[in-house]
Amino acid sequence: MTQLTRQDCERMDVNDPLASFRQEFDLPDNTVYLNGNSLGAMPKKALAQAQQTVINEWGKDLIKSWNVHDWFSMPQRLGDRLAPLIGAAEGEVVVTDSTGINLFKVLSAALTLQQKHQPERKKIVMEGSNFPTDNYTAQGLLELLGNQHEIVFAEDEAIVDAIDENVAVVCLTQVHYKSGRVLDMKAITEKTHACGALSIWDLCHSAGAMPVNLNGCQVDFAIGCTYKYLNGGPGSPAFIFTAKRHQGKALQPLTGWWGHAAPFAFDRDYTPAIDIRQMLSGTQPIVSLAMTEVGLDISVRADLAAVREKSQRLGDLFIRLLAERCADHCFQIVSPEDAERRGSQVAIAHDQGYAIMQALIARSVIGDFRAPDIMRFGFSALYVSYADVFDTVEALRDIMDNQIWQREEYNRRHAVT
Ligand SMILES: *Cc1c(COP(=O)(O)O)cnc(C)c1O
Repeated sequence: MTQLTRQDCERMDVNDPLASFRQEFDLPDNTVYLNGNSLGAMPKKALAQAQQTVINEWGKDLIKSWNVHDWFSMPQRLGDRLAPLIGAAEGEVVVTDSTGINLFKVLSAALTLQQKHQPERKKIVMEGSNFPTDNYTAQGLLELLGNQHEIVFAEDEAIVDAIDENVAVVCLTQVHYKSGRVLDMKAITEKTHACGALSIWDLCHSAGAMPVNLNGCQVDFAIGCTYKYLNGGPGSPAFIFTAKRHQGKALQPLTGWWGHAAPFAFDRDYTPAIDIRQMLSGTQPIVSLAMTEVGLDISVRADLAAVREKSQRLGDLFIRLLAERCADHCFQIVSPEDAERRGSQVAIAHDQGYAIMQALIARSVIGDFRAPDIMRFGFSALYVSYADVFDTVEALRDIMDNQIWQREEYNRRHAVT
């Protein structure tokens, strides 16, 4: 097999059906942005929308905007727009709060549903190596509930075996934040239900990156963020999915007025809404929701199957170029090499990963680093090109061949890695 050249990669870009989406994002010149798995790029329309929301709506229409600009229904409206991207139906999704807070809500809801019908079930299956906030949130909730439950931590293949008749809830992230490994949502959810447990899926690294079929897999609850592959902006609100069959039946303990059956009745006592609004708590960050909608506007126009296919190809290309051009530099591929089992990122390990990533960032090839030794390269199909991947591996080769990573400035640790 002959080595791929930059020209080969440029040809792939010419034939890329998604290529035109790149123009919808405002990326700095001469930058290869491979961190959309952590913070998506800025849509060009974000600035105009910010001006509209801040200057026209907030500035001129003030409080009337809750009605005239439909601020009040934004969590549901955005939820309905997001729903098709994750295989949910209208009325099953709201965009609100953060992923961690939403996990608290759905885990509470699932546990209270089980408490009603099968109170003897006390186990929750989770993945210990998951993004920590999921585990921390569960641990905090269980402490609040008096430590009657136990989290069973399992990894990869052992997850399915950990699901049995004592399990109340199985709470997993579909695409692993570090390795990019994809779990089999359908098979695991089937086993979960066969054992009488409920399923919660975290879609932080799936939503907007690949087709997800929550209802096709009969998932009970799901959550995920909008600031990664959905390009909603820094800290943009997350989403919650509750299957129709569970709505109005479970307890959502953050019982704020937005989740009340009649928020503007201002009743003394709480009565939950019996639809997806029950998952809301209080007043939402409207400016941030407006940015979220700009990102969603782009994603809903992209064919998710094509997005998935391109991100797999970009990842495969990265792995191949790394083998062709950096073979003697001891990079270990941590992600599954089989694209079907890998999300939209490739993680590679190297002892000097931190300094190497700093050297890459210094030449505007932006990925990130996760302790102890992992460099992550995210391939957001809407704005990463095949030539970008070529340039990344070339930069990496140069940094390694010439030991540029050894410079003192690349070995100083920053707060955010
Ligand atoms: C990014 C990510 C989060 C983020 O949670 P926040 O509440 O937004 O801080 C949570 N879980 C997973 C699996 C993630 O990848």
